[in-house]
Amino acid sequence: MENKKELRNWLNAFELPHPLVIAGPCSAETESQVLNIAHQLKDTDATVLRAGIWKPRTRPGNFEGVGALGLKWLQKAKEETGMLTATEVANATHVRLALEHDVDVLWIGARSTVSPFIVQEIADALQGTDKIVLVKNPVNPDLPLWLGAIERLHSADIKKLGVIHRGFSTYEKTRYRNNPEWQIPIELQNRFPDLPLILDPSHIAGRRDIIFDLCQTALDLNYDGLMVETHFDPDNAWSDAKQQITPTRLVEIMDDLKIRKETDTEADYRNALNTLRTQIDVIDHQLIETLGKRMKVADKIGELKKAKNVAILQARRWNEILGKMILEGEQNQLSEEFVLRIFKAIHQESINHQEKIMSK
Ligand code: PEP
Ligand code: MN
Repeated sequence: MENKKELRNWLNAFELPHPLVIAGPCSAETESQVLNIAHQLKDTDATVLRAGIWKPRTRPGNFEGVGALGLKWLQKAKEETGMLTATEVANATHVRLALEHDVDVLWIGARSTVSPFIVQEIADALQGTDKIVLVKNPVNPDLPLWLGAIERLHSADIKKLGVIHRGFSTYEKTRYRNNPEWQIPIELQNRFPDLPLILDPSHIAGRRDIIFDLCQTALDLNYDGLMVETHFDPDNAWSDAKQQITPTRLVEIMDDLKIRKETDTEADYRNALNTLRTQIDVIDHQLIETLGKRMKVADKIGELKKAKNVAILQARRWNEILGKMILEGEQNQLSEEFVLRIFKAIHQESINHQEKIMSK
């Protein structure tokens, strides 16, 4: 697939003065729940009503969705509010049922994008469709796998394509339910600047309080849309209760977000500059986190050395590290002088950490 301006046609056709907003509950629960939420969203910035009909659960025993019955509720919500509808499809039967019920936006979930078999089955079932099809990133941080899914749909002659960034699962517990790993969507955006990119802050956050910040970062990175889980009674939602927000909160968030509008060359310049600056901020944030992790490992070494009563400074090990890093630095276009300076500072901080431990 090559980048082409046409990739954005479907998005431009909405002629929105703000990013595309897809909102609605994690899961369709009852007819009145779907209709109630749709009516609360109708006069907001949300264009598309989302609701999961079939829920992919990591472990069995959780709410697995109401099934095809819920598609009728989405259809009714569309009739009553004029909103477009969106749901997740994970096999050819889901696709057939969703198309029969005139769902406008079909998305492939993170657990399906990991499987080329499933993606191909969905692509075949959707062959040539004029519906909008969005591909969530796979659960694992693998850009080629994500791109592969998009290519399969593109090869099936599906023209209205986009991607949803919902974060990546990690073994270590972080402040996120799914780590954003912003560098992955940034790289995808560099390769396909015209492929619409939508943020799903809900599944990245796993909680309500950081949804706004995630949305703002995405808009600063020039994302094209937001998909936010929204429920009139989030605490009592049947799935993902912790991360859903009310339609009222969504309106506040949209009011408070700084949205850039490209108008003239001066604005274009500032826009491009801001996007790059946000990329730098993301990387700086990762640098600090990585350094913090390195010091935690140094602390553990300090504890070992203390138990064994060994000296902190071990010159041979230090020289080995430096030699390796200078070489790796070269491969990354970093001067020897710079690598030396950085690593001396890092080494000094490690020593300070270990001294603290030794003196305890
Ligand atoms: C969802 O959107 O409710 C969902 C299950 O998302 P994901 O595939 O990103 O986990
Ligand atoms: Mn969910």
